[in-house]
Amino acid sequence: MPNPDIEMYAEVILPLPLYSKFTYSIPPDLQGDLQPGVRVLVQFGAKKYYTGIVSAVTPQRPGDYDVKPIMALLDNAPVLRPPQLKHWEWIADYYLCSVGDVYRAAVPTGLKPESETWISINPDFEAPEDFHLTEKQKSVLQCIEGEKRVRLSEIESNLKIKGVAGVVSQLLALGVVEIAETVTERYRPKTERMIRLCAEKGDSERLHQCFDLVKRSAQQERLLLSWMDHARWLAPPGQQTEVSRDELLKATGVSSAILRAMITKGIFEEYKRTTNRFALDLNTLSKLSPLSDIQKKAMQEVKASMKDHAVTLLHGVTGSGKTEIYTHLMDQVLRDGNQVLYLVPEISLTTQLTDRLRKVFGDRLLVYHSKYSDNERVDIWKRVLTSNEPLIVIGARSSVFLPFAHLGLVIVDEEHEPSFKQYDPAPRYNARDAAIVLATMHGAKTLLGSATPSVETYYKATQGKYGLVTLNSRYEEAQLPQVEIVDMREQRKRRANKGILSEPLMLATKEALEHRRQTILFQNRRGFAPVVICKTCGWTPKCPNCDVSPVYHKHTDILKCHYCGLASQLPTLCPACGENSIEVFGYGTQRVAEDVQNVFPKVAISRMDLDTTRNKNSYQNIIEEFSEHKTDILVGTQMVTKGLDFGDVNVVGIVSADTMLNFPDFRSNERAFNMMEQVAGRAGRRKEQGKVVIQTSSPDNPILSYVKRHDFKGYYEEEIKARRQFAYPPFTKIIHVYLKSKDQSAVDAAAVLYAKALGEVFGQRVLGPERPFVGRVATYYLQQIMLKIESGASMVKVKHILRQVYESLARDKLVKACTVYYDVDPV
Ligand code: ADP
Ligand code: ZN
Ligand code: ZN
Repeated sequence: MPNPDIEMYAEVILPLPLYSKFTYSIPPDLQGDLQPGVRVLVQFGAKKYYTGIVSAVTPQRPGDYDVKPIMALLDNAPVLRPPQLKHWEWIADYYLCSVGDVYRAAVPTGLKPESETWISINPDFEAPEDFHLTEKQKSVLQCIEGEKRVRLSEIESNLKIKGVAGVVSQLLALGVVEIAETVTERYRPKTERMIRLCAEKGDSERLHQCFDLVKRSAQQERLLLSWMDHARWLAPPGQQTEVSRDELLKATGVSSAILRAMITKGIFEEYKRTTNRFALDLNTLSKLSPLSDIQKKAMQEVKASMKDHAVTLLHGVTGSGKTEIYTHLMDQVLRDGNQVLYLVPEISLTTQLTDRLRKVFGDRLLVYHSKYSDNERVDIWKRVLTSNEPLIVIGARSSVFLPFAHLGLVIVDEEHEPSFKQYDPAPRYNARDAAIVLATMHGAKTLLGSATPSVETYYKATQGKYGLVTLNSRYEEAQLPQVEIVDMREQRKRRANKGILSEPLMLATKEALEHRRQTILFQNRRGFAPVVICKTCGWTPKCPNCDVSPVYHKHTDILKCHYCGLASQLPTLCPACGENSIEVFGYGTQRVAEDVQNVFPKVAISRMDLDTTRNKNSYQNIIEEFSEHKTDILVGTQMVTKGLDFGDVNVVGIVSADTMLNFPDFRSNERAFNMMEQVAGRAGRRKEQGKVVIQTSSPDNPILSYVKRHDFKGYYEEEIKARRQFAYPPFTKIIHVYLKSKDQSAVDAAAVLYAKALGEVFGQRVLGPERPFVGRVATYYLQQIMLKIESGASMVKVKHILRQVYESLARDKLVKACTVYYDVDPV
């Protein structure tokens, strides 16, 4: 029992990038109701309020500040489950950010309304019979009605009554209002109105009564009979089904007024059923495909490895059927009654996969989609929160934040993918590593899968820290594709090329077309042409906000900055010398597609890049069309490297390997090998051997020869040697310290100061400062300091030291003009 004499306080996490903890007092009427994980509404600053999450309840009064009371309690039960809070804390410590940063990223907006949140009327709300609103609720509602959307803070200033935020939260919970979204596609959990008889099955006396009640109305009688028919009332017990109101009315042609009359008489009762968007008839579920002998063996090895290792790496060549092995493993985990988290790098690209899994697992598969609206995410959050059932969540990185009850297995497919790392804003976490930690907290095992494991992961596997299972052959003995490396300098000298297409790539594509086969062309740049230059004076356009040149987009005839999105007109005459001599060079996907169309005028080409896949279904459409062979050639950016599985693709062209090979950072070899090997792996995935053409101006680059032989180990051995020699990961841990400001001289000077202060503590481990590769983004100038820490160092300690360094410099005017942030384990 709560003791009213002891004042209690709650530590609350706010969705803010602030390091300290916040304590609020618990009003007497809420004492005893508060527990860690529930949401509360609190004031922060003079006018703002936020939805916070209670992390602890304590009798300890915090030190020297005025403690404000909690304004409202929003939940009866926690919206988090253990060990989520612990997991958030781990992320905050490891990735050097605040728990508030993690909270902000982890929980959908609909669950954390704050002053600046937009609210609107829920058009689908239907008031139940005995629906009452309080006077306060009514006046808040009036403020929202008639508006498209209103900010919470506006309602507050309009009404001038206390506790508006709490009232809005009540209305949100009732479903009368909802969080307004800018996202165009909206989703609400669908509910269906159902009709049931007010009688127990088998109670024939009551049934007779009902028939007596409708005796005088033919229509009512018809409705009752039809209902019995629909419900299979007379069938043996256990075979009855639910009856939907709409279906019943449609089948009988009776008006809803008649039905209402019968409800008033107490014959029928209406209730709502949430229809499951993912619902599938259990009978239509398909069986798991049997594993091949080689796959069976690998699966046994994975299971054996999991006995002694928290993490196991499945290194299987492209097309070896890793997905099939995951499916069998997941099936067993579900049978054991546990839950599964299945992380993929880009969920939009996995329609093929989710369709297949849905056929096997039905509505036990939940998809947490990065392109879903916030309402959809709230819905999935709630389903995971309230379900103790075995289920699978497949999703991109943010699905590590869902409130799982009891994970039995975490799978990270394509574990090498850089997109598992969030770059901006904080938390700058790697979902693969955060998932491993989460699995451990649940006592679950993790399986990492890839044809091209990251250097860090493979190193751990060779050191015995992770288990290692290798799958060297493709399913049904399909051959890995043959790789040809084409010297583009030689092609141009002989004028054998047509635009960007070399002779061998044209021939291979032509042959594929003749055999009704398909081709994928990979070019890691979107737009039409990345280089715009005046031939007379050398003028090139620059983005006014960033330190990069904008890319020319031909269809819209604009120059576009790929960092900040700013678009501008391509001038007709050179703005510097006035001559009519502006030309474009280089190749983006648009221009590649244009060249291909010129060479093969009759062929259907589709393009897949950020420009063509803005909305939720466009990926799906492009992929569907290609897989149904409505298009013959697919041109795309790195999106086409990720796990696509098309049986008819026989040719893959890597249009220009050079930009990948010449990128100036220690991961460039790794990135280049992985991308090329992955995109090559899209070719010849069934019986016929595929062909890969790599176009380059530096055909002697050693990375290309490893791709040519599909020699992961050879590439890895060379790479790990270099990493050891130059003290890069996995032999060290890298932390980038960034300073950013709109004032260039301040950021430059502050960075020098900062590097010096860091050097006093970290010594030789500090490198820089230097301007990063792109030194100005969206009007902010950047400086970067690199810390190379011993790989086993305690991050809690490092965080502490970095905090001290920051504190010691915080008063400095230059540092004050900058924002300081960290990127741990950058990729
Ligand atoms: P990976 O992920 O290792 O690149 P996939 O799992 O995509 O390979 O498998 C490649 C292809 O082979 C897919 O079309 C898949 O359906 C098929 N396949 C693999 N294993 C089996 C199996 N046991 N039964 C039927 N088809 C399989
Ligand atoms: Zn000029
Ligand atoms: Zn820009």
